[in-house]
Amino acid sequence: MAIAPYIPGRSTTDDGRKVAKLSSNENPLGTSPAARAAFAAAAHNLERYPDASGAELRETLAEMHQLDPARIIYGNGSDEVLHLAAGAFAGPGDEIIHVRYGFAVYEIATRRVGATPVIAPDTDYATDVDAILAAVTPNTKMVFVANPNNPTGTYSTKAEIARLHAGLPADVLLVLDHAYAEYIEGDAEDGGMALAESASNVLVTRTFSKMYGLAAERIGWGYASAEIIAAMHRIRLPFSITIAGTAAAIAALGDRDFVAHTRDHNAHWRAWFADEIAKLGNAGLRAVPSQANFVLVLFKGKLTAEVAYKGLMDAGYIVRWLPGQGLPHGLRITIGTEDETRGVAAALRDLAERG
Ligand SMILES: *Cc1c(COP(=O)(O)O)cnc(C)c1O
Repeated sequence: MAIAPYIPGRSTTDDGRKVAKLSSNENPLGTSPAARAAFAAAAHNLERYPDASGAELRETLAEMHQLDPARIIYGNGSDEVLHLAAGAFAGPGDEIIHVRYGFAVYEIATRRVGATPVIAPDTDYATDVDAILAAVTPNTKMVFVANPNNPTGTYSTKAEIARLHAGLPADVLLVLDHAYAEYIEGDAEDGGMALAESASNVLVTRTFSKMYGLAAERIGWGYASAEIIAAMHRIRLPFSITIAGTAAAIAALGDRDFVAHTRDHNAHWRAWFADEIAKLGNAGLRAVPSQANFVLVLFKGKLTAEVAYKGLMDAGYIVRWLPGQGLPHGLRITIGTEDETRGVAAALRDLAERG
């Protein structure tokens, strides 16, 4: 009972109206038509168990990312992969580090296995490598870092991630959660996959839930050394990913146009939205710099995040208010369609002007 329940993003208002959902970082452009067709075609196979080895998914991913298919694990969303890591490598008496404003699942996964969460302070909402390294003790078993991070959108550079890895003892597993890696500006990347390839203590996790628009189908995966993957497979549910979801994921990987379009759309409207928030600076609003598909807006003026959250709901937009994660003064807003993004910015401007 010490585990605080995970609170998912809402899709209806207090009075039950269905409105624009900008609370769960889903793809506002939907799903690749090829993925939807593959999903529909799988309706003919409902009586069969899925391939427990996930062979086709692993081989497709390996080819695309130039990885060893034998070192790929998959799960019911990357959430399951994160839980598998904690389950395989930590237990009572062990410590798992995550950052102050980190992904809510890390604390749940830590406590679920009886381990102790250790929180490393942030630097202006961003991951602080020195603070993480300072939090390491002889009991530390793992470090969870999302890069870009959720709910802050902040990004740690390749040099910072390399410094983090270099500073960790070799028997501490560094879990780099790349749920938003596809949204990073330009061709920057944090070097996590290369570390997972060469080091024995790095696990990178990825998901089909965000950029690929397949949150409903729950497909995530991870890459690490053969030893780490072998341990995780031993505690995995044998059939945690479905035939239809797997088929949709494989088809989604092949639709590069859809991915490119989503990336461009997000980069354009993320920058536009951050500019709009900057214009509201004298009302106390600030956008934390984001490399993801959402922006964390901080409220330090007369308009509070709580009042803005309710005002946006009245105006037809559900965003994420996170008082339970230490952010009573922040709203995490997903980049939506053009209409949704313009609309939520206009509604925020109205609220700020009203004070
Ligand atoms: C959305 C998200 C995930 C992905 O969850 P799935 O289980 O793959 O849907 C993982 N990590 C972070 C930080 C996220 O925001």
